[in-house]
Amino acid sequence: MILTSLEMQGFKSFPEKTVLTFDKGITAVVGPNGSGKSNLSDAMRWVLGEQSTKNLRGSKMEDVIFGGTEHRPAMGFAEVSMTIDNRGENRINSDFDEITVTRRYFRTGDSQYLINNKQVRLRDIAEMFMNTGIGREGYSIIGQGKIQNIVEGKPEERRELFDEAAGIVKY
Ligand code: ATP
Repeated sequence: MILTSLEMQGFKSFPEKTVLTFDKGITAVVGPNGSGKSNLSDAMRWVLGEQSTKNLRGSKMEDVIFGGTEHRPAMGFAEVSMTIDNRGENRINSDFDEITVTRRYFRTGDSQYLINNKQVRLRDIAEMFMNTGIGREGYSIIGQGKIQNIVEGKPEERRELFDEAAGIVKY
């Protein structure tokens, strides 16, 4: 299972359709302060179903939609798609070799979740990623301060992490 691409449109500082493709090995994103590096990891969290606006560094869900600049009007919705190559090790339990999850959010408050262009529930996305370490509660995205939270966390909080790593959350 390999992350192959991330596509954003109208998400935070990415009004235009922006596609990042990830090759084998390590990908590093570099750029000046405020250029949108963390917005990329926010997009990954978001498409995986993140509901906490705090974790997305905003105060309301609408904050993920491009809010406009002096030269460009605000957008009406945000969309992010993440594509995973589901061959090889740690396969997601799915008939597909390539899986694309998509999340859309409109200023009206409506949201949509899709798996391979088919509309699904948030719960279906959560269940698909359960025990893979990738999901919203997974440990594949380690943000600033997260290591400290793990070390200083309550035993019950740490247990959630171990359960996920051991692949027994479902049970
Ligand atoms: P640093 O290196 O300082 O951590 P960074 O490269 O990680 O910075 P981000 O925090 O990802 O930068 O991006 C911040 C930028 O994203 C700011 O310029 C902010 O105005 C812009 N931004 C965030 N949300 C929106 C939005 N909804 N609409 C337009 N721009 C946004």
